[in-house]
Amino acid sequence: IKMKKFALIGAAGYIAPRHMQAIKATGNELVAALDPNDSVGIIDSHFPDADFFTEFERFDRHLDRLRRSGSEKKVDYVSICSPNYLHDSHMRFALRSGADAICEKPLVLNPWNIDGLIDIERDTGRKVNTILQLRLHPAICELQDRILTEPKEKKYEVDLTYITSRGHWYLQSWKGDEKKSGGIATNIGVHFFDMLHFLFGRLQDIKVHLSEDTRAAGYLEYERARVRWFLSIDINDVPAQVREQGQRTFRSITVDQQEIEFSSGFTDLHTRSYEEIIAGRGFGLEENRVAIETVSNIRNATLQSGGDQHPFVL
Ligand code: NAD
Repeated sequence: IKMKKFALIGAAGYIAPRHMQAIKATGNELVAALDPNDSVGIIDSHFPDADFFTEFERFDRHLDRLRRSGSEKKVDYVSICSPNYLHDSHMRFALRSGADAICEKPLVLNPWNIDGLIDIERDTGRKVNTILQLRLHPAICELQDRILTEPKEKKYEVDLTYITSRGHWYLQSWKGDEKKSGGIATNIGVHFFDMLHFLFGRLQDIKVHLSEDTRAAGYLEYERARVRWFLSIDINDVPAQVREQGQRTFRSITVDQQEIEFSSGFTDLHTRSYEEIIAGRGFGLEENRVAIETVSNIRNATLQSGGDQHPFVL
């Protein structure tokens, strides 16, 4: 089969090298990259022949020229690693350029953005693929198999705690700006809210107990689970014994009091995602809808107190 050609938007950022590795590991080629920031020497470790642009218009012209020079040269996929609030615009660009998109999480900040993208998919005949990497995590797949063998009426009790310390830079960057990242429940939580829907079905109830720049917590009820969740980027929320061992991250998911071991198996999930996408089994727009509705509702919810609080909420 023909080697696929890729372009990459947001090439200077933290997650972009994971995409470069995935393109390489699946036997494909990065031909062009865009980033307004020119700290992109990392490209040489993967694709030293790739063209690079700091201006969108020149990148657009280049992709257009490749498209018009025939199917051998044309870009097949545009991978999108830009800040969250730019994703929908960058996906429209990809599809209108005759390529499929591979977009980082969260797909968009609000569910109505998905509707517009569905129209463009239809108009262009191209597809949006998304990175929902936890759906490919071996421990999560195993758990899903187990849940599916249980009676449908069974309701699980789930506690989800995810503390991933970030330095002072976080709140100074686009990630700390709710208009750009959606806030912490969106930017960090969306992985887990998608996973919970994937495992436990339709979302039935949302309560938010805590919503700050660095921490958020609440309660989610799904067809098959009641979930108390807590997310933080503040090192002070890492339990003391864990912090004393020099750890800056604390991750725990319990299902009916039983810990789900999923700290390993994270590393090559971008490559796994690319394998699935290239085989035509990528997760599409509609598969993102529940997670995007969840984060959008959490962002706009009024705070409540009540008996369903995660134990870390004081
Ligand atoms: P980052 O800030 O390190 O990188 C973003 C890059 O986008 C920067 O280099 C920036 O210059 C560039 N950029 C800004 N405006 C642009 C524009 N108009 N056009 C092109 N590029 C532009 O952020 P990051 O941590 O790499 O995150 C990028 C995306 O990946 C985000 O959507 C984030 O949510 C997602 N992400 C996913 C995972 C995961 O595990 N799947 C992990 C981290 C981040």
